[in-house]
Amino acid sequence: MNGQIQSISEKINKVATPPVRPSIHADSKQRFASKVLALTGILQTTLETNELIALFAKELANFVGFDGLSYQVSKLRVDINLGKQSQHQCDYQLVVSDENLGDIQLFRAHPFRDSELELIENLMAGLLYPLRNALLYYQALQTARIDPLTGVRNRATMDSAIHREIELARRHDNPLSVILLDIDHFKKINDQYGHLSGDQALKSIAQCTDNTIRESDMIFRYGGEEFLVLLSGTDRKGAEQLAERIRENVERLNPHAHKSMSLTVSLGVAGMLDGDDTTTLFKRADTALYQAKHQGRNRVVMQ
Ligand code: GH3
Ligand code: MG
Ligand code: MG
Repeated sequence: MNGQIQSISEKINKVATPPVRPSIHADSKQRFASKVLALTGILQTTLETNELIALFAKELANFVGFDGLSYQVSKLRVDINLGKQSQHQCDYQLVVSDENLGDIQLFRAHPFRDSELELIENLMAGLLYPLRNALLYYQALQTARIDPLTGVRNRATMDSAIHREIELARRHDNPLSVILLDIDHFKKINDQYGHLSGDQALKSIAQCTDNTIRESDMIFRYGGEEFLVLLSGTDRKGAEQLAERIRENVERLNPHAHKSMSLTVSLGVAGMLDGDDTTTLFKRADTALYQAKHQGRNRVVMQ
């Protein structure tokens, strides 16, 4: 247990910490040991990072009062915020065997006492291993969902995501649209510049599209050089404008060493209608994409 506690490197905001003597009882460490063990047991009931952090916050609140808790792992884009961020905070970096498990902060309106900080530190030791398992699980899920070449979501998750978003849009009476994007004359790019340059172009276009859409929009690679953008809360007019922006941004890409390589995309847009399901919505966007190709490529067509 000691190793775990020491592996938390502390970055306490000294200004927030008043000169109050620790008031932990001589036998309290012993009691902590069983508390930490009990806490680990409780935390091991979930592998979901969000759920785990919420559970930890709930358990911790039984020992120390606080207004808010935040947790981030920047490399995994995990950012969880519970409660509110008030004036005083204590901040820990979580590390297990040189493995960085992210940063955690506790907030409250009045300063944390030394005795409370010691308690928090002890209880955080109980979080480390369940958290490491949860992050491994999260990474495994991410790997299964992400296309390794382009870094965007893969086909395996697309149908269920569209289905889920259609249900949500219908329930909340919100608009929903999809954009299908297909690279123009991509076979020629491969033939002319080689497959590796083709891969690089594919990656650039996926990233350019991902950078053009909002955080809440989703992009999937559903075929070789074909992508679907799922836009919740966006009607077909808004989707058409976004598709046009993607088209322009891709056209402006200046790919790599090959100055002469010109990259363009064709896009088909469809907005959700009453009675649409995944297949019918996709089919309309596909028809629009076909028309965009037919009309000369490097353009947006809306259905
Ligand atoms: P169009 O404008 O009609 O879409 O023409 P196109 O050449 O893009 O269309 P087509 O669907 O005939 O060709 C797609 C090409 O994309 C063929 C395939 O070799 C290439 N491709 C698919 N996946 C990859 C990949 O992962 N990497 C590379 N470099 N090429 C790929
Ligand atoms: Mg294609
Ligand atoms: Mg193509």
